Amino acid sequence: DREAARNAPITPGALADGTEVPLLANLGSADGAAEAIELGAEGVGLFRTEFLFLSSDEAPSVADQQESYRQLLGSFAGKKVVVRVLDAGADKPLPFLTDDDEENPALGRRGIRALAYREQILRDQLTALAHADAETDADLWVMAPMVATVDEAEYFTSLAKELGLKTAGVMVEVPSSALLAEDILRQTDFASIGTNDLVQYTMAADRLLGSVAHLQSPWHPGVLRLIKMVADGGAANGKPVGVCGEAAADPLLAVVLVGLGVDTLSMSPSALADVRAELKKYTLEDARRLAEAATAASNADAAKAAARAAA
Ligand code: PEP
Ligand code: MG
Repeated sequence: DREAARNAPITPGALADGTEVPLLANLGSADGAAEAIELGAEGVGLFRTEFLFLSSDEAPSVADQQESYRQLLGSFAGKKVVVRVLDAGADKPLPFLTDDDEENPALGRRGIRALAYREQILRDQLTALAHADAETDADLWVMAPMVATVDEAEYFTSLAKELGLKTAGVMVEVPSSALLAEDILRQTDFASIGTNDLVQYTMAADRLLGSVAHLQSPWHPGVLRLIKMVADGGAANGKPVGVCGEAAADPLLAVVLVGLGVDTLSMSPSALADVRAELKKYTLEDARRLAEAATAASNADAAKAAARAAA
């Protein structure tokens, strides 16, 4: 089956009834661009920018960042590229920005909280992105990590617009932002669900800790119900909702996510072929049936079994 998926012709992501589900790539540097395109990525759904900040003791200059972003955007002319601004803290500590005295760094000043605290770093990054956007032909979207409140969503979106970006949105990785999705999506252009952190925070299970691995499944109905709230919040506002966490790379779960109302899926490029092949087996009606079965289950294993049975 996997072999067949890998050898199948590369077509845009779609269900059996023709419903389009754009399949995008998660990238950690511009180096992976050519391979992602070769594997059929229709754009970039998550460009992690931490690598630009990890190599030195201070934030890179606007000019240096602009050059990196121009390289990335130049590889995806005519395609959507979603760039996440710096997500520092917790599993991604940065000496010049994050406080290493925090007792619970996953609950500390990380992501958008750290950027709002040191706003010049955020301003420089958004400025570099706006300049690179003006020099290239990709469809650049920017998004903020770890948003927990409507105010943070509004703060980031208005700053991005002020600095010349056209499309700005937020990641939904914290349960409060899923619960507030309808209000958040009124203030911003789109949402992208980061299931790695959304699972961690919903289940209160450290994503790096093996002893709680049994709680770290994105199949957990508690997580699926939050994802549905975000998709509903997008639909209520006519705004797109994507998933860019590891959940999107699980072929059957990808079908469930589409059934919950998610519009786009972003994953590591190596997962694209299997997800593309699985989506083709179901209509939107099928996907909704799988989603309903999984969401009604009482635990992660039961949700997966219910989706399998409904398939
Ligand atoms: C996530 O949390 O799901 C996500 C995509 O971001 P990261 O894995 O970089 O925290
Ligand atoms: Mg995250």
